[in-house]
Amino acid sequence: MSVSVAIVGTGPAGFYTAEALLRKGLDCTIDLIDRLPTPYGLIRFGVAPDHQTTKKVTRNFEKTALNERCRFFGNVTLGRDVTLNELRGMYDAVVLAVGADNDRRLGIPGEDKRGVLGSATFVGWYNAHPDLRDLVPVLDTPAAVVIGNGNVAIDVARVLVKTAAEMAESDLPEFAARAIQASPIRDVHLVGRRGPVEAKFTNVELREMGHLDVAQAVVDAKDLPDVVGDVEDDRDRRLKEKNLATLREFAAQPAGGKTRRVHFLFYASPVEILGGERVEGVRFERTKRDGDRVVGTGQTFDIACGLVIPAIGYRSLPVDGAPFDSRKDIVVNDEGRVAPGLYAVGWLRRGPSGVIATNRPDGVAVAEHIAADIPTGAKPGRVALEKHLAARGVRVVSFGDWQAIEQAEIAAAHAPAPRRKFERVTDMLAQLEKS
Ligand code: NAP
Repeated sequence: MSVSVAIVGTGPAGFYTAEALLRKGLDCTIDLIDRLPTPYGLIRFGVAPDHQTTKKVTRNFEKTALNERCRFFGNVTLGRDVTLNELRGMYDAVVLAVGADNDRRLGIPGEDKRGVLGSATFVGWYNAHPDLRDLVPVLDTPAAVVIGNGNVAIDVARVLVKTAAEMAESDLPEFAARAIQASPIRDVHLVGRRGPVEAKFTNVELREMGHLDVAQAVVDAKDLPDVVGDVEDDRDRRLKEKNLATLREFAAQPAGGKTRRVHFLFYASPVEILGGERVEGVRFERTKRDGDRVVGTGQTFDIACGLVIPAIGYRSLPVDGAPFDSRKDIVVNDEGRVAPGLYAVGWLRRGPSGVIATNRPDGVAVAEHIAADIPTGAKPGRVALEKHLAARGVRVVSFGDWQAIEQAEIAAAHAPAPRRKFERVTDMLAQLEKS
């Protein structure tokens, strides 16, 4: 009997696992379960709307989904429509690939004021995540502070300062485009608690900030060291050298006639969000290098702003029925093995780091484990899930249904935008009733 595998979560980690299982040639069936009618997780809702090339990886995922061994079960929520224990009863192997789409908290006073919006929330909003459609971000301010020196911080800053023309080829939803274009934000402060060498930006993303139509990247040359210093890994050192060179170019640019600015600030750790009910600024403590670490200096300064976006990393939530390490915010696992027949991959397994392809080895490792742990199938898998969901009256969205949704999104797009995303699950399901 074929090994029945259920993969919960259809972002990169889920799809790379399915791909790896297919490549292994294992006699298996693979059911890809997602709580939304749309597959691809962070590719659709996390990758920036103006980075369409990055989103093209979905073409490979689509091939996987269309493989005869695979079936997509969209609009099926783990914990509501089917529990993990029920799934484990139905399938020989269950792979958790639900990612990390929640915000980490800064843990400083004032964090809950109106106008503080974590990057996971803000990015989900401008990517038309249905959960965030009713959010109304506070954008009526001339200045925003983005905390963190990673690629998400760069994405957020860029989306805030790009013009409508620069976003024309993106799939930024109209409601977000309108809100951002109407915003008076002219200054975005991108603040890192460590130095330019420690910043986690990749160089392509950093360089892009030097080519924006109306926004200038502002860097103080005094913050830039002459050399990168000791970095063991060659590749890492080259990246840091490139970033430093890019930041030097930014620092050397004359203050031109651009109307918006992205200020790169380093060595500043947030200590308090200022204001009353609404954010009025952020207090930072200056930091300095102390060997490999940075330490506080006791000296503080404030940046006035009406919007604060901590882009300090994502966080997984516990999955009912799976052991969770709440210090690391990951499922307790040994190289992807969680319990007999239960596995985890991607950000839920190892935390929120790495680019899309970083998830590939996770998928490969878990495919190897499944092949080694479960030589033959014993559980019914798909038929049992179909029966269970039918009894519960769940409207399962198949991959064909998703393709109909996607076609409708493409047809509704205003050129040159690639698609006009549905913003609500009810609208997606209503479209399926029509087609
Ligand atoms: P990240 O790369 O881990 O960056 C998080 C940043 O937040 C770091 O600068 C970190 O500083 C800082 N930070 C953490 N806690 C903080 C605190 N309490 N106070 C102040 N600063 C704090 O995370 P990310 O930007 O969310 O990105 C997640 C992953 O997705 C990364 O691997 C990223 O490369 C990837 N990604 C890639 C792209 C792309 O390739 N275009 C786009 C988006 C995301 P420390 O370094 O000091 O901890």
